[in-house]
Amino acid sequence: MSRTIMAINAGSSSLKFQLLLMPAGTLLCQGLIERIGRSDAIFTLRQGEQKWQETRAIADHKEAAALLLEKLLSHHIIPSLSAIDGVGHRVAHGGETFKDSALITNDALAEIERLAELAPLHNPVNAAGIRIFRKALPHAPAVAVFDTAFHQTLEQSAFIYPLPWRYYAELGIRRYGFHGTSHKFVSQQLAEKLGVPLSALRVISCHLGNGSSLCAIKGGRSVNTSMGFTPQSGVMMGTRSGDIDPSILPWVALKEDRSPQQLNALLNNESGLLGISGVSNDFRDVEQASIAGNARATLALTLFAERIRATIGSYVMQLGGLDVLLFTGGIGENSARAREAICHNLHFLGLGIDAEKNGRNATFIQTDHSVVKVAVINTNEELMIARDVMRIGLPEYAEAEA
Ligand code: ADP
Repeated sequence: MSRTIMAINAGSSSLKFQLLLMPAGTLLCQGLIERIGRSDAIFTLRQGEQKWQETRAIADHKEAAALLLEKLLSHHIIPSLSAIDGVGHRVAHGGETFKDSALITNDALAEIERLAELAPLHNPVNAAGIRIFRKALPHAPAVAVFDTAFHQTLEQSAFIYPLPWRYYAELGIRRYGFHGTSHKFVSQQLAEKLGVPLSALRVISCHLGNGSSLCAIKGGRSVNTSMGFTPQSGVMMGTRSGDIDPSILPWVALKEDRSPQQLNALLNNESGLLGISGVSNDFRDVEQASIAGNARATLALTLFAERIRATIGSYVMQLGGLDVLLFTGGIGENSARAREAICHNLHFLGLGIDAEKNGRNATFIQTDHSVVKVAVINTNEELMIARDVMRIGLPEYAEAEA
């Protein structure tokens, strides 16, 4: 029997949601509440071709959640709140505690709140969202799905930074990695599409969106990933620098009298594609500017691809070869130019892409001679969340369908 599952992604001033019929994964409706806390907040709900939108005051996440549930009823998407069988929450940080998604108990919730130390902007809102929906839907089991959990399989040698030991032992400074839900989802989809067990594959997954990260996956387990202690490290992103010489920071702090918060803003909001191009953080805008002859936009695109290529190179070493290079995220799924630049001249690896297949975003874009497969797979973190709600929150139904 089908179950109706709600997937919730609470941000600092937003709340995204999807209602899915599981295990089929059919999307019943989806929506977004933006600018929470303002008098001109925007509520958007889509069901198939239909779209409802209104601008109104929404004071906080509690009001946003109440509005969302009320709209699901008034638009007859669900007959009653008891029709929602389970709720899944995206949670940014699971630290070293959560190695998989987890049923939300009082203890689990307290631990998510304790881990706010590692993700001060995200975990508190995620926890608040959990509390609100627990109260509104007390009958529905709730499951937390962590961005970090998939990477808990990293060996110590892949997650420790060469700092004095106590920074790991006492402060928990290590590589955690993020985008785990996406990397896990697309690698599972890949195995399904290939008809090969994931356990037999060496995969490099490139999630390229506003935030970007790469993940080396061996036998279905994450063995390395480019984001680290925070989602700021690794490859270059829309507004984030990715890896830089760490000593630049104390140097700038002294030279320009900048506070730690200002340095954080510099790395997080002013760098990456935006910082180099001076045009935009949006890949499409930078592509357009480059086509129009803007040299810094072209440099930004080159730098973006080069940093990804360098990471791919190091992961091929770690994996001892490569079976599939996988692209996902807004850029990975849609930009033929980005994929072409990243895969350029990799014939020595046995990897080549077909321009026509690449141009139409085909699922497999390698040439007939390419030993390495190159895949383009749309990510769907909400579906992964709903699957985990079924697996962990409603195992009796998940098993019955399996
Ligand atoms: P987020 O990390 O916020 O989820 P997305 O995965 O949606 O982001 O990716 C957003 C990025 O994808 C933006 O830089 C956008 O320009 C880029 N993008 C979306 N569609 C295209 C396209 N057709 N061609 C090139 N880039 C695209």
